[in-house]
Amino acid sequence: MNIAEIGKPTRFGPDWPGQRCGATTRSGTPCKKAALKGRARCRNHGGCATGPRTEAGRARIAAAQLKHGRLTKEKREEAKRRAEIGREIRAELRDIEGLALARGWLRPGWRQWFGEET
Ligand SMILES: [Zn+2]
Repeated sequence: MNIAEIGKPTRFGPDWPGQRCGATTRSGTPCKKAALKGRARCRNHGGCATGPRTEAGRARIAAAQLKHGRLTKEKREEAKRRAEIGREIRAELRDIEGLALARGWLRPGWRQWFGEET
């Protein structure tokens, strides 16, 4: 047997435990080639690609990846800020309620007037 042929039948056979490329081929099936070391794709399917290099390229890819923008850093900061405002308002209302109860402007159990529990 030629030395290059040794082990070939089992090297990348169906039971090979390594990382497969898995990219969708032109025939629609997953690519069965081994992925490049430390990468998820074979050399035919972008395994050598290093991503966008220029600032314009990076911006273009980011825009292409953006689906709806609800979870961008800015939106999440905005949601946190709003939640904090809500907490401040509720704390203020608790303080006012406590003061009103202490001064007798509200009777304990006043929420029952509005059909609420407690
Ligand atoms: Zn591939």
